Amino acid sequence: MELRNCKKCGRAFAYKGIPVCLRCKGNDEDEFRKVKDYLYDNPGATIREISDETGVDEQQILRYLKDSRIEIIEEGNFVLECERCGKSLRSGKFCDVCVGEMRQEFSKAIKPKEEKVKPVPKPKEKMYITEKLKRR
Ligand SMILES: [Zn+2]
Ligand SMILES: [Zn+2]
Repeated sequence: MELRNCKKCGRAFAYKGIPVCLRCKGNDEDEFRKVKDYLYDNPGATIREISDETGVDEQQILRYLKDSRIEIIEEGNFVLECERCGKSLRSGKFCDVCVGEMRQEFSKAIKPKEEKVKPVPKPKEKMYITEKLKRR
């Protein structure tokens, strides 16, 4: 058994291929379910509303956006920026153009990634759930 420190709470746990302990993993899934359910019932809710109603941290909700687990579909209401060119994004970390360019440049020099300041959520942004996550 390999012991590691949980990436979220720092506690030592038995490592099984996931960088967080079982408790944190469970919490994360619970929180994501809450956000997802809230968005399903309240399409167009703002990050602040979701955070207030679900108790999930705004940064955590932004993380779901970055992981493309939820997205913003309303035109002109983007909170995320491409980490490469700064273009507004619905979800994920890079825009389509940069993804394409990076694929071409992949064989060239790989530079260490610069730390970027996290985007601050604005209360106006409306979020919707990604198509694939919608209940049928
Ligand atoms: Zn933990
Ligand atoms: Zn870009």
